[in-house]
Amino acid sequence: MLIDFLFKNSGSRIKHLAVAVFGVTMLFLFLVFIIILISGQFLYGIIILCIGFIFAWIFSIVIYAFGELCESVFEIKEILKKADYSSMMPPKKRTSQTNAKAIPPSNAYNCPKCGARVYGNENFCTKCGAKISQISHF
Ligand SMILES: [Zn+2]
Repeated sequence: MLIDFLFKNSGSRIKHLAVAVFGVTMLFLFLVFIIILISGQFLYGIIILCIGFIFAWIFSIVIYAFGELCESVFEIKEILKKADYSSMMPPKKRTSQTNAKAIPPSNAYNCPKCGARVYGNENFCTKCGAKISQISHF
């Protein structure tokens, strides 16, 4: 349970860490800026502050993005755990039944001349008398 307490929600913790790192770095930079100001080098202090801000920002973004990635992976894992695959894939028995329904019994065709139902084992159309060899397969 201690491990759970220490490492649970690591994604959001990393995000908080990123914000904290940014805040602490900015505070540190501001102190450095004030010290440089006191020593009388204003321009130098401004440059240090700007460069420090950019680096702290980029660094925090990288950590924050990593935290967000961890959170997303965790969410995807949870979704996959909850997903019921059996409802997505019907049982094999049911599939074979639907396939059997899709195939018409004893090779039935439609006569191209009159449209009547003709079966493969008959030589001529039972309605109009057209030859079976001329009848196209539907
Ligand atoms: Zn016919």
